[in-house]
Amino acid sequence: MNTKGVDFNSDKVLAREFLSNFADNNGEAKYLNILQDVANHKTRSVQIDLEDLIEYKDLDEEFLRRVTENTRRYIGIFADAIDELMPEPTEAFIDDDHDILMTQRSDEGTEGADGSDPRQKMPPEIRRFFEVYIRASSKGRPFTIREVKASNIGQLVRIAGIVTRCSDVKPLMQVAVYTCEDCGFEIYQEVTARVFMPLFECPSRRCVTNKSKGNVILQLRASKFLRFQEAKIQELSEHVPKGHIPRTMTVHLRGELTRKVGYFLPIALN
Ligand SMILES: [Zn+2]
Repeated sequence: MNTKGVDFNSDKVLAREFLSNFADNNGEAKYLNILQDVANHKTRSVQIDLEDLIEYKDLDEEFLRRVTENTRRYIGIFADAIDELMPEPTEAFIDDDHDILMTQRSDEGTEGADGSDPRQKMPPEIRRFFEVYIRASSKGRPFTIREVKASNIGQLVRIAGIVTRCSDVKPLMQVAVYTCEDCGFEIYQEVTARVFMPLFECPSRRCVTNKSKGNVILQLRASKFLRFQEAKIQELSEHVPKGHIPRTMTVHLRGELTRKVGYFLPIALN
């Protein structure tokens, strides 16, 4: 998709307005209620329904089109908007390891960093308790697997198929956190792919000036992981043209979407 001339900042404002102003059928501020639940650690999942965007009183058709055609990017834009809207918790919850680490970090501030490298800036991802999902409208016919083309990459597509295989749920590194034993800096590496190259050299000014590689140690407890699962889906038999073999597609499920699909084998009863 051509993203030239698209102002992602003004789209973040649109996303924020939608989340603040959208009212469901009962007149409730649906998304602000979800954000309050996230703040209270009752839920992690912020699911944005495209149907809601369509029914929104101030619907912007172009914005809707951009969300559908560049979904991956707009998940990030909605997440940035949610960061700005996140309310204070109204109920007590038990701090987990991650909360304790975050409190320590915000107390220390950014004193440790010398700002010489973007990897010393804490990525917003690591502070987030929530995950953003965009759900396609249930109206209209879903794609068959052979209709999904390379031009759909990055877009939101709904497909019909049957799950034939699914993997165990595994942890997927989202933000790798390292500390340097020589200079004491914390270093962040955002991971956007399934595999990543760990850092071996410290990027801080002190280590670079000393012409030292530093002594970089991956801190697994401080890093952020996401649940990850891989599923294979196969075309429905009615979508396979005569004489062809059914096509399959691999689907990656992340975070709260894992453990939602499965397949069941019949068990013989004695
Ligand atoms: Zn260092």
